[in-house]
Amino acid sequence: MDQNSSQVKDYLIVNRVQVLSDACCSACGGAFTASPMGDKAMIATVEEGGRTFFFCGGCGDNINGRLESDEARRHYVWDWAIPLRNGHLPQQS
Ligand SMILES: [Zn+2]
Repeated sequence: MDQNSSQVKDYLIVNRVQVLSDACCSACGGAFTASPMGDKAMIATVEEGGRTFFFCGGCGDNINGRLESDEARRHYVWDWAIPLRNGHLPQQS
């Protein structure tokens, strides 16, 4: 078990200015990165019911490669997920 990733509970989704708790990828179930630099994340919004799904960079790339129409593509946006440790951004004061 990776001790670093187990310490990360919350992620800041930068452009949506939203905090995810216990976030994991909707496709592979993997946690987002534990790196303080964060990682790209793909966000899919399904308008029926307004549900939002988050995908890790790898799965996002995979999904992006399979989208066949602009209509489908506009439901998916790239964002950035930054791990929050103890509820704070790392190394900021
Ligand atoms: Zn994934």
